[in-house]
Amino acid sequence: MSASPNVKNDSAFSVFIHVLQDVGKKMKAHPEVINLLAQPQRIIEVSLPLERDNGQTTILRGYRVQHNNARGPYKGGIRFHPDVDLEEVKALAAWMTMKTAVMDIPYGGAKGGIAVNPQELTDRELQQLSRRFVERLGSVVGPHTDIPAPDVNTNAQIMAWFADEYARLHGDTAHAEATFTGKPVSLGGSLGREEATGRGGLITLLEFLKSQNKNHQDMTIAVQGFGNVGMHFARLADRAGFKVVAVSDAEGGTFDDDGHDIHAMAESIKQSGSLDKNICYPKMSAEQAGLAQDKKCRPISNKDLLELDVDILVPAAVENQLTKKNAKKIKADIILELANGPTTPEADEIFVQSEKVVIPDILANAGGVTVSYYEWAQNLQNLYWSETEVNDKMERKMKTALQSILNIQKDCDCTLREAAYRLAIGRLQEAMLLRGWTRPRSEDITGHVNGR
Ligand code: NAD
Repeated sequence: MSASPNVKNDSAFSVFIHVLQDVGKKMKAHPEVINLLAQPQRIIEVSLPLERDNGQTTILRGYRVQHNNARGPYKGGIRFHPDVDLEEVKALAAWMTMKTAVMDIPYGGAKGGIAVNPQELTDRELQQLSRRFVERLGSVVGPHTDIPAPDVNTNAQIMAWFADEYARLHGDTAHAEATFTGKPVSLGGSLGREEATGRGGLITLLEFLKSQNKNHQDMTIAVQGFGNVGMHFARLADRAGFKVVAVSDAEGGTFDDDGHDIHAMAESIKQSGSLDKNICYPKMSAEQAGLAQDKKCRPISNKDLLELDVDILVPAAVENQLTKKNAKKIKADIILELANGPTTPEADEIFVQSEKVVIPDILANAGGVTVSYYEWAQNLQNLYWSETEVNDKMERKMKTALQSILNIQKDCDCTLREAAYRLAIGRLQEAMLLRGWTRPRSEDITGHVNGR
């Protein structure tokens, strides 16, 4: 693999470069366009002093990577996690560029993060850290430049602190609203945003199954990661008639042959704050549940969850979960990537050989950024759309993107990931050539943009 200079060979960013260069070559994309996409346009790295409740000061590291804005302002979430580092944020930012292009929404790609475990912070410390990050980012974010959103361990409350700090610094509440998406609905957030990523994933899955003439009723699903994305996906999939037999969080999971009652599970987590792997939430009457309680439901490790004999596997947690180490043991026929970057290129190769279908992250989890776009559009116009309006618009967008990818896949006889990258690179190439970022070749002048 020929990665760009300064790219660690095993990093998430090197995975992005690998796929970008591979697909770029296959579709005969403009080499300079590929070179431009192989490097983020701007990297911001900040130190964040945090005064702890015990009076001591901890210095944390924060990042914002603005990968590409050929198609519109930079867009992408902010993650709070101890494993955050520059290579990870670069990869996440690049995937956002691909995702917004696949969805054909007028954004580029960015991502941010702080290397911190938010579970170890008090509410006051978390708020102070969130405000400090916005202060350090200063004017690099804004409604027409770079628009952050939630990601792992960040949520609507943190977006509210971000927006409030931005308004305080810039003296402009209206612009602050349109600078952050995923806000609470009472502060200009959009109806439907919280569950948008899970809902978009389900729409894509249902539409894909329909294209294969497959009936989804009672198909079994295992979901790794029971946060914003995994929980809403599981709840909606359960309601749509799938049987969600396993779910997990970072500490492990729970398995039930008969399927979990995800609604009851989500309600219980709301009360207790975490997923209790020793409690069963059976999908059956109270009497049956009493009988089944001890027999059917059991704790399961994250490793075993990935290898379950289910129809559909849904990684919805973090990167690099499906690798050359476990890819041969994966039994699910379909992998719906709701997490960003859960599959390595080596695992992808193995899945091609074992004829498994991977519905790639840059399509499968794009419902979130799509509704973020609708939130931003509402904020800029001071409009409020109904939840049905938001959901309907997003559903149409997801279906259109999937159909475009299926059409390309038919032409190139390739994986859905390759088809999605062809679509994204084609659109980005067109934008970059029109902007004059690189000179068109003769084949570009004839009007043919490869991969579209
Ligand atoms: P979240 O913080 O709400 O939830 C993350 C979940 O994953 C939690 O249940 C956590 O316990 C679990 N987890 C963390 N590390 C794990 C590990 N090593 N093994 C198993 N489980 C682990 O985050 P989220 O917003 O649901 O994001 C999940 C994934 O979806 C991330 O890859 C994120 O980038 C991606 N994503 C999120 C959105 C969004 O709108 N929030 C949009 C697109 C993609």
